[in-house]
Amino acid sequence: MTMTGVDTVTQWPMYIGGISRISERVSPVTDPGTGMVVATVPAASQEDAQKALAFAAQGAEVAANMPTHQRMQILNQTADLIKARRESFAMLIATESSKTIREARKEVDRCVDTIRLSAEEARRQQGEVIKFDQAPGSENRVGYWQSGPVGIVLAITPFNDPLNLVAHKVGPAIATGNAIIVKPSGLTPLSALKLAETLYEAGLPGPVLSVVTGSAQDFGDILVQDPRVRMVSFTGGLKTGKHIAHQAGLKKISMELGSNSPVIVLNDANLEAAARACVSGAFWAAGQNCLGVQRIFCEESIYDEMKKRVVQLTAAIRMGDKMDESTDMGPLITEREAARIENWVDEAKSQGAHVLVGGERKGGSYYSPTILEDVPPGLIVLEEEVFGPVASMIPVKDLDSAIQQANNVNYGLQAGVFTQDISKAFYAIKKLQVGGVMINDSSDYRIDAMPFGGVKGSGLGREGVHFAAEAMTEQKVVCFNL
Ligand code: NAD
Repeated sequence: MTMTGVDTVTQWPMYIGGISRISERVSPVTDPGTGMVVATVPAASQEDAQKALAFAAQGAEVAANMPTHQRMQILNQTADLIKARRESFAMLIATESSKTIREARKEVDRCVDTIRLSAEEARRQQGEVIKFDQAPGSENRVGYWQSGPVGIVLAITPFNDPLNLVAHKVGPAIATGNAIIVKPSGLTPLSALKLAETLYEAGLPGPVLSVVTGSAQDFGDILVQDPRVRMVSFTGGLKTGKHIAHQAGLKKISMELGSNSPVIVLNDANLEAAARACVSGAFWAAGQNCLGVQRIFCEESIYDEMKKRVVQLTAAIRMGDKMDESTDMGPLITEREAARIENWVDEAKSQGAHVLVGGERKGGSYYSPTILEDVPPGLIVLEEEVFGPVASMIPVKDLDSAIQQANNVNYGLQAGVFTQDISKAFYAIKKLQVGGVMINDSSDYRIDAMPFGGVKGSGLGREGVHFAAEAMTEQKVVCFNL
């Protein structure tokens, strides 16, 4: 079987403790654009999961004893190798996921940055002197605290950024001296496997990293529940996140979940910039983006003008072949997802919503970029995460009304606000219940070094290399009684 534009592949192995394993039971990887199976990976069993745990227990010792310069060297070399192989990583992402080749290249560039930041983070794993003599009776004590690895980190990742979201867990875990088991999305496991190969090539000892492929239903709970795993770092949907949090028991958890992000456009905003940012933010990766713009609140006096611009820009989006350099938007990840989006839009229409542009299933996994208006409050396309190419425009009386509606959902990842008025910007920053507020940009802005995460149903804890690294460590206090 040949993968479009990438290596000739029949069967990819998974890596348990650095050793490649194949299996009689396999799981197909499908190109969502063509619907063709492009590769298979092993469908791991419970026994495979147990082996990965046993290797990780050894790997935790190895990783903790790796000197900082070695961790940095491995991560820097990995970044160099990914950079040198940018195009083949991008082709792989654009084949197994629904991203276009141009979107895939951006993800590879960000992954290089994430791994490079992780290398730098390794040297920042320090501690500080504690002034014990502040407590009466402790005058003769000296000491400090130092940070150390938690031991084994379990990384569970989604399909929509199949490379960089794995790097956001693996990079900080290696920087902090942890062993790591990756359970990538069953839909897009190949980028994670290629990243693992690159890390081993750069010198990462095998037991430090395992990548277990297949269906989480078969072995997910075994990994999540195991007491040797000291942290579960999860990125994915709210429903899965809740299940994992219940299974995990007494261990660290980080949850990077979804949202239905708002953008607020006030009447003094630069409307051209606002429209461009909203459209780009709504349809990046066909809307399968945790930061994707889903609800666009516009003050009434500029609503019609914004609507005109948003519709025009949306209508100009070229949807099609992911490998074509001129394509702006690819398909949904599966036909099932396209059917779900179709149902949600149809339901909104039946309740009185109007389709301003799009609203059509285009065959297979394709759904056209869609803007809705007049969506009655409480409908699923406003309340839940659409995770597809559908955004709604909502006129509002003023900033307070926009903030009230923006906050009135169970999510809060990031928000965008367009205004030239600094006091209104600060007012919105104070009132919006989210993990990040972007002034004069959409919710869809992120660099890999910033703290990233949400409130309410959008998650627990923060990623962003430094913040993920901090979460993957424990502080140990040392005190000398002189
Ligand atoms: P998902 O929740 O369906 O799956 C995520 C991962 O969890 C997959 O690897 C899956 O196999 C695994 N999983 C499922 N059940 C499990 C179990 N019982 N035990 C262990 N692992 C299990 O999510 P998805 O559809 O792949 O991704 C889309 C979601 O991810 C969206 O909600 C999106 O907003 C969210 N997301 C969040 C961020 C963020 O940083 N906040 C980034 C990207 C995506």
